[in-house]
Amino acid sequence: MVQPYKHEPFTNFKNEDHREGYLTGLKTVEGYLGQDYDLVIGGDRISTEDKIVSYNPSNKEEVIGRVSKANRDLAEKAMQAAVEAFKTWRKVKPETRADVLFKAAAIIRRRKHEFSALLTKEAGKPWNEADADTAEAIDFLEFYARQMLRIKDGVPVESRPNEYNRYDYIPLGVGIIISPWNFPLAIMAGTTVAAIVTGNTVLLKPASTTPVVAAKFVEVMEEAGLPAGVLNFVPGSGAEVGDYLVDHKDTRFVSFTGSRDVGLRIYERASKLSEGQIWLKRVIAEMGGKDTMVVDSDADLELAAQAITASAFGFSGQKCSACSRAVIVEDVYDQVLNRVVELTNELKLDDPTDQSTFMGPVNDQGAFDKIMSYIEIGKEEGRLMTGGEGDSSKGYFIKPTVIADVDPQARIMQEEIFGPVVAFAKAKDFDHALEIANNTEYGLTGAVITRNRENIQKAREDFHVGNLYFNRGCTGAIVGYQPFGGFNMSGTDSKAGGPDYLMLHMQAKTTSEMY
Ligand code: NAD
Repeated sequence: MVQPYKHEPFTNFKNEDHREGYLTGLKTVEGYLGQDYDLVIGGDRISTEDKIVSYNPSNKEEVIGRVSKANRDLAEKAMQAAVEAFKTWRKVKPETRADVLFKAAAIIRRRKHEFSALLTKEAGKPWNEADADTAEAIDFLEFYARQMLRIKDGVPVESRPNEYNRYDYIPLGVGIIISPWNFPLAIMAGTTVAAIVTGNTVLLKPASTTPVVAAKFVEVMEEAGLPAGVLNFVPGSGAEVGDYLVDHKDTRFVSFTGSRDVGLRIYERASKLSEGQIWLKRVIAEMGGKDTMVVDSDADLELAAQAITASAFGFSGQKCSACSRAVIVEDVYDQVLNRVVELTNELKLDDPTDQSTFMGPVNDQGAFDKIMSYIEIGKEEGRLMTGGEGDSSKGYFIKPTVIADVDPQARIMQEEIFGPVVAFAKAKDFDHALEIANNTEYGLTGAVITRNRENIQKAREDFHVGNLYFNRGCTGAIVGYQPFGGFNMSGTDSKAGGPDYLMLHMQAKTTSEMY
């Protein structure tokens, strides 16, 4: 009997054993820094001359690994391997497919601190953020495996006398998995295994700044017993390999997580029929956010300030769910703002391998430049309260930045910055605050801090986001507990870690037999 699902607990690093465990993981990772990783196509390892070099964002000199880079020919080869493997994998029993995920979860759990330490090195995640990413990857494996067991026999439908009707979910075909760097283990693994456990075969194209952790995950899936050709590993340029695969006639679906602009491009390209294509491609797209926390006049103001600070600056604000807008009802505005500034000034910005670091670097030079340019815009659009400076001499470090008195229509209130910057706007009353909260094109997460039950109800109905939280921050959704995905330009509201997520990778077949 499979045990009921429970999310993986977060590690308490105050415990000496866990602390030691993480440090041992770090040593293991340091032992393999700079190695080469191959493509995996139909079970074969293929090395290319051209490599993606993954660097430590805290220390640009340190190479995490060199990963072979697929071109169009290799992408085509991988597509053919996936098409071939689909013929057999789709018929493998759902229980057997689920077992691969259960075993992969066990392997990652055993190597938990090593994976977290790798996330610290490759993505710049402080200990607790890295630990949460690894835990979420384990959760996706455990949760989707159980979901598959739940839906494997289809859904009952009515039958009349002498008639036997069935409604079964069958896989779609070959899927392209395109993942972002900000949850380089959890989202990459979650989107990959949801497609695999449902009987599809995939081509995985990870983000170019975090390909090593993806390569390690592919090894885990092989060790867990996944047959050759089911998971093909094709790191490469989004523009070259990404477009080619999205356009391909044999692509049945695309599961994308990333920015709004790339998501829109994929959605549009996938809608065009390629020669020889005989289906409408399905697109699962999880895109950006511009997430708001609203503070009511009748709120626990200390809770509000703590939650805004943690949601804005955890992992340097590089979460699609991060709080980048704080909308405060005017009679408590100054109090909340000043307290957030105080708390922000206490945050330690440093190398994330140091246990006491709260915030590490941002992703790369491109992210650094983009965030710094938004900070300049923010200085024009509002009052800089703290932060505003960056240093990219060794790694890409930007101070947590608070900008006050910003117009709700200002650019830093509307555009996704994806960095440690939060803008404050004043609202006349709670209704006005909700109006501001809804005034972007996004709709991913939001939070309301209030003691007013009527206002909670109002927000429940009118705050238009996929994930709405009350009296807590707006980050930190847990698989199976707070299924995650947004409205409007935040994507197709495909709720990762939710009860209906697997169905997005399947199609329902009705059969009817007369006796
Ligand atoms: P990105 O859009 O730049 O890249 C995402 C992936 O798309 C990468 O693997 C990239 O190589 C690939 N890509 C780029 N061009 C492509 C093309 N033409 N065709 C196919 N693939 C292509 O995003 P990012 O910088 O890696 O991640 C940050 C973004 O992701 C933010 O906007 C964030 O809000 C969003 N995000 C959303 C969620 C969610 O669940 N909604 C979760 C995490 C991140």
